[in-house]
Formats: sequence, structure tokens, C-alpha cells
Amino acid sequence: MQEPSSRSTLRETLLQSCFSEEGRQTLEEQAMVNAEAYNYSLALEKKAHLPMVQKILDLEAFRPAARDQGFRHAVTKTYDHRCALCGVRIITPDGHTVVDAAHIIPWSRSRNDDIRNGMALCKLCHWAFDEGMMGVSDEYNVITSRHIATNPNVPGFLLTLSGRGIIPPADPDLEPAREFLGEHRRAWRL
Ligand SMILES: [Zn+2]
Repeated sequence: MQEPSSRSTLRETLLQSCFSEEGRQTLEEQAMVNAEAYNYSLALEKKAHLPMVQKILDLEAFRPAARDQGFRHAVTKTYDHRCALCGVRIITPDGHTVVDAAHIIPWSRSRNDDIRNGMALCKLCHWAFDEGMMGVSDEYNVITSRHIATNPNVPGFLLTLSGRGIIPPADPDLEPAREFLGEHRRAWRL
């Protein structure tokens, strides 16, 4: 089983014997997406060290599913699975992580998967950031919206994050771009 060739033969045999034609195609398609996503995440890591450019890659060369997965992989790895705003890191025994890869300027507007247009955020912080309830200052401190604590809201620990430093990536070259954080703040009047 150590030999790549015997592993691939076994995989082929399993695919041939255990799955319907349709199931086999789905698995093969998924394997292709996984490989493409991996290549995409490597390219993102490399190119995010270059001067900021909106269009860093030939996007048409990648399937949307591979881009999503590749961006998620690159960003969650860059932040070591910690939420940049609240610092939570939880990984389940199955390897599921609490953090999402959030775009600072949404993909639909920016079409920009540069790691510096991303942060790893837990589900709650991701929602709060996307809804303009939280943001990040030029000094990389957490900002909470004045709306977050208005009646009938009970923001709990989120309020305690206000003014605290974010948890940045270990690699300073991959810190979120101030340009994009500023655009996010202006959009939500934070
Ligand atoms: Zn969080």
C-alpha cells in the first residue's frame, strides 16, 4: 500500500467493482476538483506574496467548486484555523473546522480570491462581519457597530472584542489588506 502505483490500482479496482457508473463518475469528478482546488490554493499562497493585483489568476481555468475549496484551504491554513476576530479554534475529530474563509470584499463584487482579501472567521463572526456588525480598523483592531447592542439585541461576548487586536496570520505578507478593510468599513459606516 506504500507504493503509489498499487494504491492507484486498488483505487481503480474499488471504483470499478463497488460503484455504479454514475457513482464512479461523481467520485472521479470529485477527485479532479480536489486536485484542482489544491493547485489553486498553492497558486493563491504564492501570488499573495506579490504586489496586490485584483486579478491574480486566470479564473476561467478553474471550476467554481475548485476555487471555493482552494480559497477555503489557503485562508484557513494561513490563519491556522483560528477566527481572526474572536480567536476561537475548534477542529472536530472528523477534521471539520469552526472557521470559514470569509471574503472581505465579497467575491460577487470583487472576484478577488487574494488571501489578503480574506480572513478565517468562525460562523458567528463571519455572519457579523458580512452584516456590518463587526469590522477591522487600519490598526487591525476589532470594531463593533453601534447597532450591535441596540434593543432587543444581546451581543454577549462579541462586545468584549471591541478594540482588541485581531489574530493575524503568522506570515505578515498575508495580513488582510487595509484597502479592503477600509472599503468594508465605509460600506457599513463603521
Ligand atoms: Zn469568531
